[in-house]
Amino acid sequence: MRRYIVAGNWKMNGTREGAKELLLGIQDRAEELTDVDWAVFPPSVFLEETERLLTGSNVAWGAQNVSDKPVGAFTGEISVSMLKEFGCEYVLVGHSERRNLYSEDDVIVAAKFVEASDAGLIPILCVGETLREREQDRTFEVVSRQVAAVLRLDNGVERLANAVVAYEPVWAIGTGITATPEQAQEVHQAIRSQISNYDANIAQNLQILYGGSVKPGNARAIFAMPDIDGGLIGGAALKAGDFIEIGKSCIS
Ligand code: PEP
Repeated sequence: MRRYIVAGNWKMNGTREGAKELLLGIQDRAEELTDVDWAVFPPSVFLEETERLLTGSNVAWGAQNVSDKPVGAFTGEISVSMLKEFGCEYVLVGHSERRNLYSEDDVIVAAKFVEASDAGLIPILCVGETLREREQDRTFEVVSRQVAAVLRLDNGVERLANAVVAYEPVWAIGTGITATPEQAQEVHQAIRSQISNYDANIAQNLQILYGGSVKPGNARAIFAMPDIDGGLIGGAALKAGDFIEIGKSCIS
């Protein structure tokens, strides 16, 4: 039985004080809600405070990005070992904003995935098509290519046993337009079936999250779909109340 994960991607938002308030608000409200795996992804400069405030709680944390290199002269980058020092359990790799705004291609995303996986972090592999690609009827081609970049790695499918996939149609991120539950379900099912060709058991146990304008009002219908195991939440993760409401939709 797969557990739901509700993960909040804060992106480049917040202040030191605001981050503290949000972390405490989430921690406090999530305490009794133990049937969901909670995770937050604050900007990396707030990870020290995150570790301080969330240690011992049922809310895990991670970073929004990581370097594909272990150490050295890579100005502005943060390594997996640094993230581990701050208690990170997860890291996002291949978020569409990284792919589209910072030109991260499948090769870089796969290299980051390996770095994280080798270090014992749980990579959340983000995949998803642009509006143009959907309109060209290329959704499955694009998403399966992004997943294949990881499956092709040495021990690729085994690595997915300790990873999460997030399907985030780019046209739904931050736009207020959500994929219908059926649109999301058919892509989630296709991802699971692609992985199943390599290892049915790993595919069956893999948590696949949906992301793209999930709000308290639409979460329940999305999370009711059989291959959707929770959400990667952007805008609505910036309000503790909304974030927690979204998580509650998984369990009731
Ligand atoms: C995201 O950035 O991963 C995301 C899903 O954002 P939003 O919920 O704001 O669409």
